[in-house]
Amino acid sequence: MMHRRGLLAGLACGAAAAVPAAAGDRPRLAVTIDDFRFDDGPLVSADTRHHGILDALYFERIKAAGFVTGKHVETVEARAHLQSWAESGHFVANHTYSHAYYGGAAPGDLGADVDRAAALIVDLPTWRPWFRFPYLAEGRTAESRDRMREVLHTRGLMNGHVTVDASDWYVNQRLLARLEKEPGADVMPYGAYLVRHLLDRAAFYDGLARAVLGRSPAHTLLIHHNLTTALFLPMVLKAFRDAGWSLIDADEAFADPVFAARPNIAPCGHSLIHQLATEAGGFADRLRTPGEDGPYEAPAMDALGL
Ligand SMILES: [Zn+2]
Repeated sequence: MMHRRGLLAGLACGAAAAVPAAAGDRPRLAVTIDDFRFDDGPLVSADTRHHGILDALYFERIKAAGFVTGKHVETVEARAHLQSWAESGHFVANHTYSHAYYGGAAPGDLGADVDRAAALIVDLPTWRPWFRFPYLAEGRTAESRDRMREVLHTRGLMNGHVTVDASDWYVNQRLLARLEKEPGADVMPYGAYLVRHLLDRAAFYDGLARAVLGRSPAHTLLIHHNLTTALFLPMVLKAFRDAGWSLIDADEAFADPVFAARPNIAPCGHSLIHQLATEAGGFADRLRTPGEDGPYEAPAMDALGL
């Protein structure tokens, strides 16, 4: 059987390849995709985006986790796409119904928001009791953080932490803005930038994890269900393999004991590795707040004319 290599089959990416490490030393990475949505966009329809992402994961024989925002999966079409995602063996998890910001001083309606999303996904065959905070924001104060943790605990949900945080959403935003102005623009430089950016952030968080934990945990990469993922996921996954990473299933990653950590810091958010480094202390010179954001990428993308 022939496998499609994604929407940009055959095009090379600009990422530099590193010499692969020996198998036992290889850092491990699972793909987690937030904010599923199935509306049509520039260049690709919702259907093409969905199948482009599925094909890329199929080619690498990995099972990803989808953190689903309920409000985006209520239509018949979205339900069908979500069903096919699950039937392909990929996991489905909770990212609230509303995608509200819970990084404030009180948990607000977090419980109701979680339950409303749960009603839409718990019947899917690959639903898992994982939850990811919108914007990774878990609470401004220790008290609000603990109340939010209690909301998850009483529902049997585990925080589906990100270890490798990044700004794919920002690259996507810049690409969409470019296509709005120039519909025929060359998209490949955005893919090359995205690959370099994700490899760079993964290397950073793995290095930080080794310093904080004394080992390389199973990592969870955060990307989004957007145009850049649809176009460039094959390039991204190949680049990780070429750089010496092992690609693993999301359930294998979330079985790593690091995901049971409950860092005693406030405000609480960002990558789990960022949280653990903050809690451990002594890493201030390696930490940015926020850990990732568009303005960090803007100068380099400006310089490249992206
Ligand atoms: Zn989100």
